[in-house]
Amino acid sequence: MPAHASEQVEQCSYKGCCIEAEPGSKLCIFHQPCPKDLRRFKEALSDQIDGAGARRSRNARLSFRGYVFPAEVVARSCSGESSSGITVPRLLSHADFGDVRFAMGADFTRARFSGMTRFDGASFDGRAFFADARFDSASSFLNATFKNTAIFSHALFVNPCRFAGVWFEDGALFQGSHFFGQADFDRASFARLAHFGMTRFHRVARFQETRFKGVADFSGAEFKDFVDFSESILGACVVFLDARFLGLADFGGARARRLDLGADRPRVRGWSQQRCGVYHRLPFEAKRFWQFAAKTFATSGEGAKADTAFYFERINQWKHLRAVEQREAASERRGIPVRFFRASPLALRKGGFSLLWVLDVFFLRWTTAYGMSIARLFAAWLVVLAGFGITYALAPWMAGRPTAAT
Ligand SMILES: [Zn+2]
Repeated sequence: MPAHASEQVEQCSYKGCCIEAEPGSKLCIFHQPCPKDLRRFKEALSDQIDGAGARRSRNARLSFRGYVFPAEVVARSCSGESSSGITVPRLLSHADFGDVRFAMGADFTRARFSGMTRFDGASFDGRAFFADARFDSASSFLNATFKNTAIFSHALFVNPCRFAGVWFEDGALFQGSHFFGQADFDRASFARLAHFGMTRFHRVARFQETRFKGVADFSGAEFKDFVDFSESILGACVVFLDARFLGLADFGGARARRLDLGADRPRVRGWSQQRCGVYHRLPFEAKRFWQFAAKTFATSGEGAKADTAFYFERINQWKHLRAVEQREAASERRGIPVRFFRASPLALRKGGFSLLWVLDVFFLRWTTAYGMSIARLFAAWLVVLAGFGITYALAPWMAGRPTAAT
C-alpha cells in the first residue's frame, strides 16, 4: 500500500478487510452494523461486483465475509436496479457469505452456486429463500442461524453439503430437494417444522444428535445410502409415512415422542408392504427400525401399534436369519467353511422357517384380521382352540356313533 494513503485513511478494523473505514467509525460501509446508508452501501457493492470502482475495492472472488446487508439480498440474472433489495448475481462462483448478517433476509431462488460456497456462521434475520437453487460444488452452512423460515424446496445439492450445528428458529422446508452428495445435519436444531417430504438422499444422510422440536416430516423421503439418526431427539412427532430406506439406518439412542406411519399403520393383517407404512430393503436395518418404533409407540401410549412394531421386528429377525442361512448355504456349496448354523442340517432349517411362516399366517395374520392388540390376539387363539376342542368332542355324537375306540 502507498505510504501517503496509510497516513490519512484509516482501514477497516475487520480482520482481513482493506477497505477504508467510514468517517467516525473503525469499520467500512460493508462491516458496519445497521442502521446504515442503504444507497451508499448499494453503490459500493455495485462497484465491487461489477468492477466499476477503484481496483482496490473490487471483489472478484465474491468474498462477503462478515458483511452486514441492511436490506433484502436478491439474486438476479441481470444487474437491474432492485427497488428496495440489494442485487447480487444469480450465478455465484466461490461465494463466501461466512459470518454475514442478512438483516432483512435473502432471496436466492433459482440461484446457481458454483465452486465452494460458504454460509458458515451466517445469520438470516428475515426469510431465506433457496427454492430451486442449485449448488454445483460443496456447500457449507456450518453453525448458521435462520431466524425466520428457511425455504430450500426442490434445491439441488450436487456435492456434499454441511448443515451441521445450524439453528433453524422457524420452519425449515427441504421438500422435494435432492442431495447427491453427503448431507450433514449433525447437531442441527429445528425449533419448528422440519419438512423433508419427498426429499431424496442419494448418499449418506447424517442426523446424529439433531434436535427436532417440532414435527419432523420425512414422508415419502428416500434414503439410498446410510442414514444416521443416532442420539437424535425427535421432540414432537416424526413422520416416516411411505419413506424408503434402501441402505443402513442407525436409530441407536434416538428418541421420539410420537411416530406417524399412517392412521391404521403399522398393522399385522394383510400381505404387502402397505401394512408397514414404511419400506426397508435390508431386514436387519428394518429390525432396528421396528425396535425404535416399538419404543416410540409405547412412549406415546399406542399399545396396539407397539405390539405390531414388535411383530415386525421379529419377522425381520427371521428374514435376516434366513438371508444369513442362504448366504451360508451358498458358500457351503462353493466349499467355503461356514460358521453360522453349522450344527443343524439344511433340511431342518428350511423346515423351521416354513413352520414359522405357517404359524405366523394362522396365529397372527388370520386371527388379527379384526384387531391387533395382544388381548384380542389371545382371545382369538382361545376361540380357535376351544372351537377345535368342541368340534372334536361333538363329532362322534353328530355322526351318531361312538368314539373311535378300536
Ligand atoms: Zn471492512
